[in-house]
Amino acid sequence: MRQERTRVAVVGAGPAGLVLAMLLAREGIDAVVVDHRTREEIEGTVRAGILEQGTVELLDACGAGARIGVDGARHDGIGLRVDGTTHRVDLRGHTGRSVWLYPQHEVLTDLLAWHRDHHTDLRLGVSGATVAETGADGAVVTFTGADGVPVELACEALAGCDGSRSVVRGAIPDRMRTDHFRALPFAWFGVLLDAPPSAKELVYASSERGFALISSRTPTVQRMYFQCDPAESTSDWSDARILDELQARVAGADGFALVEGPVLTRDVIPMRSYVCEPMRHRRVFLAGDAAHTVPPTGAKGLNLAVADVVLLAGALTDLLVHRRDEAVDRYAADAARRVWRTQQFSYHLTTTLHPEPGADPFDERRRRAAVEHLVTSQRAAAELAEGYVGWPLPGAGCSGTTR
Ligand SMILES: Cc1cc2nc3c(=O)[nH]c(=O)nc-3n(C[C@H](O)[C@H](O)[C@H](O)COP(=O)(O)OP(=O)(O)OC[C@H]3O[C@@H](n4cnc5c(N)ncnc54)[C@H](O)[C@@H]3O)c2cc1C
Repeated sequence: MRQERTRVAVVGAGPAGLVLAMLLAREGIDAVVVDHRTREEIEGTVRAGILEQGTVELLDACGAGARIGVDGARHDGIGLRVDGTTHRVDLRGHTGRSVWLYPQHEVLTDLLAWHRDHHTDLRLGVSGATVAETGADGAVVTFTGADGVPVELACEALAGCDGSRSVVRGAIPDRMRTDHFRALPFAWFGVLLDAPPSAKELVYASSERGFALISSRTPTVQRMYFQCDPAESTSDWSDARILDELQARVAGADGFALVEGPVLTRDVIPMRSYVCEPMRHRRVFLAGDAAHTVPPTGAKGLNLAVADVVLLAGALTDLLVHRRDEAVDRYAADAARRVWRTQQFSYHLTTTLHPEPGADPFDERRRRAAVEHLVTSQRAAAELAEGYVGWPLPGAGCSGTTR
């Protein structure tokens, strides 16, 4: 077992872990990031597509956002398509801010390039990462490196950025931890389509057949979803059946139709809400999906992971550079405030736009009234816009640029 020491050990090289290590490096704090996936696997992650403006500004300010301006697309609005009529929510008009369409795997590629250029310590392709010890002044993680050598890594702080199946989370004893969990009674059938975009902005469609989201990844690859049963099997769906279902959910008197193309991938995505409290135990801190999951409707998961680590990087800088522990003591409570606000936003948007299977007529009429309110009230649209573009990030030690 090779004994090593660092200031911060980070388990997970997803958006949370890579942004955290970048922010720490900018403060001169050494970190080791370990991930069981290889660089190629990480760069191939097809997941999130929407970045809040605050996320883009942070990446810009750190020198990891240059490609967003070239290959990303600024979106100043979204379409809410209700029973075949589109109502535009003017994000920029309501908030002065926008979101960016820029896929998660491109964000990860940019972050990995940043780390390579700044010679940080990333250990990819490791196995068996385990929290061996937690104490008042640090923690110990063990893993086997890609070279097959077992490593015992001691650190002053350990960040669990290892996604929804986090092993680091287990370092918070059960008796001190509350797992808030809710599974929604529907899922998303997601496809990648080899076709040009069907609309300039994202379309959130609510129809009698259920919800659909028309999104994009690149000028030639589109991401689309439709509400389905969580037990739905992708093998029961031919390309033609998928396209017919998507077309039916967006059809309307204005003649709007999706541009069709071959289905490249298909998957069923469960809709879950989860929060682990507290997000800290001794010198172990959770961030991103390791601490929470939101249904994807509000496009918040990646952005919330970034918000967590902005807070955590500031708190760890206070602790490790300035020897002040107030901010780490407040981390769990400070992070939880945004987490629950985001949970409420994502849950509310999801349950408003998706008819619940088997809902009684009273609840369904109530839901439809909420949809109608959303598309007829400017105040409701402004509130949606505020949540969608994202609330300001906590002070990052990185001053944001304005796009
Ligand atoms: C279909 C889909 C669509 C989405 N759309 C959006 C969107 O539009 N906008 C948005 O903001 N969010 C979206 N999300 C959510 C977003 O992708 C996640 O919230 C985000 O990836 C969380 O980042 P993370 O770094 O916390 O976790 P992850 O991205 O899951 O990264 C965790 C990392 O830890 C590593 N790891 C895990 N276990 C171990 C271990 N034991 N040892 C070592 N390494 C380990 C993994 O390999 C991974 O690299 C979407 C998610 C899905 C599934």
